Amino acid sequence: MRTQVGIVGAGPAGLMLAHLLRREGIDSVVLERRSRDYIEGRIRAGVIEQWVADLLVETGLGARLQREGLVHRGINISFAGSLHHLDFTDLIGKHITVYGQQEVVKDLVAARLGGGGEILFEVEDVGIDDFAGGAPRIRFRSKVGEAIEIDCDFIAGCDGSHGVCRPSIPRGALTSFEREYPFGWLGILAESPPPCEELIYAYHERGFGLYSMRSPTLSRLYLQCAADEDLNEWPDERVWHELHARLGGSSKLAEGKVLLKGVTPMRSVVVEPMQYGKLFLAGDSAHIVPPTGAKGMNLAIADVRVLARALAEFYRFGRGDLLESYSHTCLRRVWKAQRFSWWMTTLLHQPVDANAFDRRRQLAELDYLAGSRHAQRALAENYTGLPFD
Ligand SMILES: Cc1cc2nc3c(=O)[nH]c(=O)nc-3n(C[C@H](O)[C@H](O)[C@H](O)COP(=O)(O)OP(=O)(O)OC[C@H]3O[C@@H](n4cnc5c(N)ncnc54)[C@H](O)[C@@H]3O)c2cc1C
Repeated sequence: MRTQVGIVGAGPAGLMLAHLLRREGIDSVVLERRSRDYIEGRIRAGVIEQWVADLLVETGLGARLQREGLVHRGINISFAGSLHHLDFTDLIGKHITVYGQQEVVKDLVAARLGGGGEILFEVEDVGIDDFAGGAPRIRFRSKVGEAIEIDCDFIAGCDGSHGVCRPSIPRGALTSFEREYPFGWLGILAESPPPCEELIYAYHERGFGLYSMRSPTLSRLYLQCAADEDLNEWPDERVWHELHARLGGSSKLAEGKVLLKGVTPMRSVVVEPMQYGKLFLAGDSAHIVPPTGAKGMNLAIADVRVLARALAEFYRFGRGDLLESYSHTCLRRVWKAQRFSWWMTTLLHQPVDANAFDRRRQLAELDYLAGSRHAQRALAENYTGLPFD
């Protein structure tokens, strides 16, 4: 087989890249180790920055998003017993859309398959070769066990944080910057109607809590917990009890059937550079952010927007400069998103070794945020998505 761009991974990064390339007339093949059902049912992020929603609409993927997505003017922050609404539309004229990552994935898969494109699901033993400078190749075993090789001009490593592309780069060529947080999020998806129209981020002495939603009947709720929290210690009653305590005064939370429960550890990772020869890393394969700033999926789409444009310029005009500056361009945005995600995380979570000084400092910062339009605008600008250069 031969293609122009071989894409490993059918998450938001890989699928969006294939979609943008197709619109530029650039051929690609997408490989995915999971099944279609699996990736379309995987519940993860749900907050879409305004420019991402605009991009989905502009590129013909907006029909369901515009029908089913929930447009939010802002978010709520709860602390010291009161609820403060930050109205992004009023502050900076922008908004966010709540629309599950799995819905974005479904729309992208439907567009690709409906347009005659291909996604090779359930592939195994994926490996990449000769991407340092020569003629890159992807080898894998198909769903039915056939050994296949694909010759490509470029490879896009969109295979997430546990993929094969990043580890295939020679040792020493990448620098990894990492921070582990001493806590995680215990998250549930529940059949519980929204008690509030917009998200609630709750600072509480028992630990952080987050109320968010995925639809008018489904809530996604999170509690700060230990990074290695044992789920067996958390029967549904305990989860609801803790949610009422942390979100309590600020929401009339309705209990409902718990459809999903899991613990996600929190970490920040960035690898530099995001390119090695003809291999380009995009999305979680190059960086992980703690979910507090709702940046993971948005950053993945930002990377491939840059990459698609650079590849289009290369194929149309033979320009290589945008491909050469890919890593530098993406990393400027990635580090700003890391900074914002770190700031939201440290502002709202109880530090494990907190002392009275730390708590007073957090409360002073929250009080400043609640009272200052300048501080609120800075949060709004980052939360709704920074402008592109
Ligand atoms: C458990 C979890 C929960 C999350 N929750 C939130 C949240 O609540 N809020 C938030 O903002 N963000 C959240 N995120 C972050 C957000 O979902 C990610 O940033 C986003 O999925 C990144 O998209 P991606 O395409 O880069 O990677 P992914 O979505 O991880 O896609 C990578 C794809 O590559 C495939 N793959 C991996 N290895 C191979 C291989 N060898 N061969 C072929 N295919 C391969 C994978 O199966 C996957 O489909 C969460 C992430 C995780 C992992």
